[in-house]
Amino acid sequence: MSSLVCSIQTLARRTNFTVVQVRHLNLLEYQSKHLLRKNGVAVQDFCMVDAHGTNELDKFNVKEYVVKAQILAGGRGKGHFDNGFKGGVHITKKHSITILVHYKAGTFFRKDEVPQLINQMLGHKLITKQTPKDGIEVKKIMIAESVDIKRETYLCILMDRQQNGPVIIASPAGGMDIEAVAEKTPHLLKKVPVDIFEGVTDQMAEDIAAFLEFKGDLKQKAAQEIKSLWKLFCNVDAVQLEINPLVETDDKQVIAVDAKLNFDDNAKFRQKEIFAMDDVSESDPREVEAAKYNLNYIGMTGNIGCLVNGAGLAMATMDIIKLHGGDPANFLDVGGSVKEEQVCAAFKIITSDEKVKAILVNVFGGIVNCATIANGIVSAMKTTKLNVPLVVRLEGTNAVEARKIIKQSGLDIITAEDLDDAAKKAVASIK
Ligand code: GDP
Ligand code: MG
Repeated sequence: MSSLVCSIQTLARRTNFTVVQVRHLNLLEYQSKHLLRKNGVAVQDFCMVDAHGTNELDKFNVKEYVVKAQILAGGRGKGHFDNGFKGGVHITKKHSITILVHYKAGTFFRKDEVPQLINQMLGHKLITKQTPKDGIEVKKIMIAESVDIKRETYLCILMDRQQNGPVIIASPAGGMDIEAVAEKTPHLLKKVPVDIFEGVTDQMAEDIAAFLEFKGDLKQKAAQEIKSLWKLFCNVDAVQLEINPLVETDDKQVIAVDAKLNFDDNAKFRQKEIFAMDDVSESDPREVEAAKYNLNYIGMTGNIGCLVNGAGLAMATMDIIKLHGGDPANFLDVGGSVKEEQVCAAFKIITSDEKVKAILVNVFGGIVNCATIANGIVSAMKTTKLNVPLVVRLEGTNAVEARKIIKQSGLDIITAEDLDDAAKKAVASIK
């Protein structure tokens, strides 16, 4: 995680604003499971259903089905839908006592319940502990072969800041909220640093499997899964690979029942296939647009749109706006190596928000050249009609030249001396 992302998250935590920005590509469970399978990790067979139909389901015949809503958030099992339907993960067996049991191709199966479950989920919003409070619309559903679970364990490989490298986190208490396990029963959690060059050794994999309480043959199987998961983690440039639960089945298999994968954005150039799976339909369109131009966008609840450079300055800008009785609508951080074209795009993204009643540009040019920002603002204003007041404070590298560009443009721009002045002017411009 870059320090910028880190400070933006700190900013969000500090202010209780909703971070709409998601860094590090996140895939849906079914996409992650394709990758798991490709790397030799044991997963259940499954097919997919979406609004376009259930074709794959017609050919998919197993004894029992697990029907799983696909959203970019966990806690689905315990979630509920906006239509009142409970649970984003359903196993047909549990609900089908009175349902007809069909006989086909030599196996009993309870497929007739699946379409009903799909109807309750598809197109409805699923609300879980990890989603925004209105939930996320379910556009895809995974229908998998249900496994008989004897035990649920937890396994995660992630890049850890404290260790400066990968660590494996394991717990025999899987299937539940891992934060709760860490808090209430820390002895059930093990953290094992992995040398990135050496990788997961046989001994290490066996020790972890033993800690996860896999015994006898199952210990070997679990160790093998752990090694395959490590291989996957490296192959796909993951920053996090979480299997919750990694289960032991009644018929002595070790299976990854749920999977969450996040990828290093810096590896996009060599993971083209994976990044092509990025489904932006759940994201804020302004955030998606900002990411195209390598900008960081954070949506908030107020009415002053802010264009800043750097997360630290973003925090200061927000504090000072608040101090003067205002409320930021968003932040667009243009970063250090910004080009005129990006400033122009940033401006368009900020003004596309109807909530924005004034814009405050607060740039402290260190690496950033203020003249670049000024040129970007001027060209943006020439191509888009601005209906709200614009306050600009440019300080640092090439600030004199920047002020000249703004003045000579003849545009209706309010200039400010310093941050305090700028915030006051932005707040006053709305009142
Ligand atoms: P999450 O709630 O979003 O984390 O979704 P999971 O895929 O982890 O499913 C939640 C829970 O449903 C799991 O912890 C299991 O207890 C249960 N579950 C999921 N798949 C199966 C399955 O195939 N068979 C059985 N018996 N239980 C399952
Ligand atoms: Mg899970």
